[in-house]
Amino acid sequence: MTQLNGRTVLVTAAAQGIGRASALAFAAAGADVVATDIDEARLEDLAGLPRIRTERLNVLDDVAVDRLFDAIEGVDILFNCAGVVHDGAVAEMTDNDLDFAFDLNVKAMVRTIRAALPYMIRKRDGAIVNMASVASSVKGVPNRCAYSVTKAAVVGLTKSVAADYVAHNIRCNAICPGTVDTPSLNQRIAKAGTLEETRAAFVARQPIGRFGSPEEIADLAVYLAGAGYTTGQIHVIDGGWTA
Ligand code: NAD
Repeated sequence: MTQLNGRTVLVTAAAQGIGRASALAFAAAGADVVATDIDEARLEDLAGLPRIRTERLNVLDDVAVDRLFDAIEGVDILFNCAGVVHDGAVAEMTDNDLDFAFDLNVKAMVRTIRAALPYMIRKRDGAIVNMASVASSVKGVPNRCAYSVTKAAVVGLTKSVAADYVAHNIRCNAICPGTVDTPSLNQRIAKAGTLEETRAAFVARQPIGRFGSPEEIADLAVYLAGAGYTTGQIHVIDGGWTA
């Protein structure tokens, strides 16, 4: 089991879903966790748990990102988990959808990585884990154009950072989940029509016959934070969707 005692980790989008499960998993592995999200009310749930401190952070805000990284004096591990899903094929995708998806799914990661790097470079040690998806350069998924374009960019960003900073002993990996049972997935299911039918259709995409759990993805994030010989890789965790 990965032990991260003495390491500081910052998790974005930690108020719910995979980010929340990851904040708990990093703390269970012994790390000191800075759990961040734009949703302060939901973050409250984590406040005061052992080894977890919470901070409001809008990852779209350059100034706020720099200010927080200065205040905490750097991190050993960065888990970029924030992301947004837009529905639609290329013909339905608006420029605004694509711009917003780029801002939140890609440019926010660039922003936090830039803020995290100086401390990691000084320490000659660091681990960055970026949340991508199988809907990216890994697999074509219907109705997910803006999402897939931007998550493919996350794969490119991950490989670029890995190549540029491996000599500083800084690793950067991406996680590519299939369908994970989180609040936003359930909102998308609720929006799409009859609950039971839509849920069954989403489950049917997963050959293993169920959704992934946020905790399963969190375990992979913790593993990658400690996996000292792995960098620049995508790590698919998708219940056999791309097998
Ligand atoms: P979610 O969508 O349920 O929660 C997202 C969280 O992000 C919320 O707490 C929200 O407040 C926060 N957030 C939104 N905008 C923010 C901002 N500007 N700054 C900071 N926080 C912000 O989470 P999830 O479904 O666990 O997804 C987490 C990540 O995993 C995303 O990047 C998503 O694309 C990716 N992912 C999810 C699935 C899935 O099936 N759930 C599959 C593959 C990849």
